[in-house]
Amino acid sequence: MYRAIRGTRDILPEEMGLWHRIEDTAREVFELYGYGEMRVPIFEETTLFSRSIGKHTDIVEKEMYTFTDRSGKSLTLRPEATAGVVRAWIEHHLDQRALVGRYYYIGPMFRYERPQKGRYRQFHQIDAEIIGESHPAVDAELIEMLFFYLNRLGLKRANLMLNSIGCPRCRPGYLDKLRRQVKAKLTELCSDCQSRSERNTLRIFDCKNTNCQGIINELPAIEDHLCSECSRHFQQVQSYLRRFGIEYKVSPRLVRGLDYYTRTTFEFTYPGLGAQNAIMGGGRYDGLVALLGGKETPAIGVAIGSERLVLALKEEGISPPEAVSTFLVTVGEEAFQRGMELIRELRHQGVFCLSDYQGRSLRGQLRLANKLGCQAVLILGEDELKKGVVTLKMMSDGSQQEVALDLLPSTLRRLLYG
Ligand code: AMP
Repeated sequence: MYRAIRGTRDILPEEMGLWHRIEDTAREVFELYGYGEMRVPIFEETTLFSRSIGKHTDIVEKEMYTFTDRSGKSLTLRPEATAGVVRAWIEHHLDQRALVGRYYYIGPMFRYERPQKGRYRQFHQIDAEIIGESHPAVDAELIEMLFFYLNRLGLKRANLMLNSIGCPRCRPGYLDKLRRQVKAKLTELCSDCQSRSERNTLRIFDCKNTNCQGIINELPAIEDHLCSECSRHFQQVQSYLRRFGIEYKVSPRLVRGLDYYTRTTFEFTYPGLGAQNAIMGGGRYDGLVALLGGKETPAIGVAIGSERLVLALKEEGISPPEAVSTFLVTVGEEAFQRGMELIRELRHQGVFCLSDYQGRSLRGQLRLANKLGCQAVLILGEDELKKGVVTLKMMSDGSQQEVALDLLPSTLRRLLYG
């Protein structure tokens, strides 16, 4: 028997209501804030990701699904979508064409990570990007929108962590200092931290090893080493957040795993999700457009983990809304044939209707309708055929009435969808 590849999962219809809720609400909310949907390819040239995410990151070093196509080109299944959106933005000259550089996209991402609850090798993200804006109010507005989105979903307990990781002017000086202090403690750190210390020092803050944590907590915080512009930007972001009444915690440890971030970084966590409790993360990437060959352009974005939102909704006991449904029970061949016409007409009139095609008995069909949780049952037998009616039974109170066939769609619409 074939099984889904480790780290991938099938999303079955029973869970799909939650996915629709997550995606529909994202569309609704993001469009209210001026974002337009963009869809970029699932695979791109490998170097697009290695250049933008950074060679010495976990994603590029260990997690990319890279393959050579039949022409010998190295391609990679996207581990994240920002690089693709920025590539598209440059390729289509959106700096000249788009009046509002706000985009969102929804789709699968691929990373060869160790699978566990909330962490998969194929997972889904909903992302929002603002390209061409540097004002700190934009950073705060993006975060504010995310809270609004979560509230709309019914997820009211998210925690926000915030940091600034500076810019190419102030970060190198801080990194030098950090490297020197890390070097002095090198032998006490785990092997992962030791290898990160030279190549990607900032990533030491990501280490979960309890032994390293004590040392990490003593390291200098970047917040105290920002240049005056970065410091002002960070202060202003916080002042807008306060204006919006948003609670947050500044966390010097929030360095994010991708190289392209500058200034504001943030992460939302949700209680009750276990080890993988980050539901979304993002930040500024003012250098990425230029790095990929475009003009110097500021930008900021967020990536939301859809699977983790589904887990959070389940954790909160929020279930998909129950679908309104009707079941047509037929008795006898003639009624079945007439029933096929009737069910077609009902569906064309916007009424959800199911039926039996296996010749079940009257009782069998009623039992099935009950199991399906149908709100209404239509019975069409010889008597009804003669009279040109159906018997409509409401499952909520067991009440029954005869309804003329031509009045059926409008009656059902009124009773069930009213
Ligand atoms: P990142 O692109 O790493 O900043 O991740 C953004 C968000 O995507 C995280 O906060 C998670 O919610 C989600 N995410 C990242 N990696 C995975 C994964 N392997 N499986 C499921 N969700 C993920």
